[in-house]
Amino acid sequence: MRSVSEHQRIVAALFDAPDPVLRPPAQALGSATIEAVTAPITLPGFDNSAMDGYAVRAADIVGATPNHPVRLPVAEDIPAGRTDELTLAPGTAHRIMTGAAVPDGADAVVPVEYTDAATTTVTITGAVDVGKHIRRAGSDITAGAEALPAGLVLGAPQIGLLAALGIADVVVGRRLRAVVLSTGSELVAAGTPLRHGQIYESNGAMLTAAVTLAGADAEHLHFVPDDTGDFLARLDSVADDADLIITSGGVSAGAFEVVKDALTGGGTVDFVKVAMQPGMPQGAGTVTAPNGRRVPIITLPGNPVSALVSFEVFIRPALRTAMGLPPDRRRITARLGAPIRSPQGKRQFLRGVLRADPAGPVVEPIGPPASHHLRFLAAADALIDIPVDVTELPADAAVEVMVLDD
Ligand code: AMP
Ligand code: MG
Repeated sequence: MRSVSEHQRIVAALFDAPDPVLRPPAQALGSATIEAVTAPITLPGFDNSAMDGYAVRAADIVGATPNHPVRLPVAEDIPAGRTDELTLAPGTAHRIMTGAAVPDGADAVVPVEYTDAATTTVTITGAVDVGKHIRRAGSDITAGAEALPAGLVLGAPQIGLLAALGIADVVVGRRLRAVVLSTGSELVAAGTPLRHGQIYESNGAMLTAAVTLAGADAEHLHFVPDDTGDFLARLDSVADDADLIITSGGVSAGAFEVVKDALTGGGTVDFVKVAMQPGMPQGAGTVTAPNGRRVPIITLPGNPVSALVSFEVFIRPALRTAMGLPPDRRRITARLGAPIRSPQGKRQFLRGVLRADPAGPVVEPIGPPASHHLRFLAAADALIDIPVDVTELPADAAVEVMVLDD
């Protein structure tokens, strides 16, 4: 049997290095920078007021108090956005708004709260120090400095900084496009009454969501029955512009294993047993699209828990690496809330629920190991990673946990 880490390497090797593309910042949310971003301009670009008030020379209002106010003529009105360059004459004030350029010659701003807010002659009842309430040019970032490092995932604040720097396009890893195809003659779409022996198709919607959460684009295809002709025709119809094909079902040891039957013999997809529970039957390789491209294909087992755990363990890290995103989920050490057993020779990924405890995080294993329990999968917020050789652990034992926090 192939080890989990060996199959992880084989899946990751199906993808190329991240493909750098130019994107407007607003369309790059969730993508990662592929190179560092240098600031093309200085921020703030000019000395500007941090308050609504009056631009003054601090020396002109020394000693101003409510009992001994200083009165200054208001020579200009400077709203934010005024673009002409102004000079403050000694012994005068300019009314100024937050974000407006401080006039030459002014060295402080008196907040409007220290004045009578007049527009002709202002009465000032408080002194301010030199430099007070002025946001200096370059105090945020200077042109030529590194604004963002390479390999940073763009969220709202990073997009804000890029926009403030006037950057029209940023180099990020291209979002890959995965198509998700479920197989099984027992599958029925929601809205159709179930006949005996039929089930509603669920892996497609689940894996499509998992692809989206991994930061890639996903297309959810309508499922195909266990018919190799139908399956191969569907692959042909979508492969031309897919970066990855994810199938579920039809790869285990029974009869009517449509994915295995259709792709065995070509020599480009390996069907293997991986020493893990859930998710033992796996397949990975490439198919040739009608346009001649080789497209990675990962064939997941059909049991829903196996399919999602396999996605988490093999596909998510490979897909994220190929987009320049940090591959791994957060891993923590937690104490088991209950004893567990694990099959010898298999790495087990148990569903778990994390809880805080004064002595450190505790993870409660939930649900049986069998791979069809969607309810427990839906209740879990962690996968407990039990090493291959461990067959049992008592409550309180320290275990490694993958935190499923999105
Ligand atoms: P298979 O891997 O095709 O042998 O399927 C294993 C189990 O998973 C069977 O009980 C299937 O009915 C179930 N299964 C396979 N595909 C899906 C799917 N897309 N949605 C829900 N259950 C599925
Ligand atoms: Mg099947």
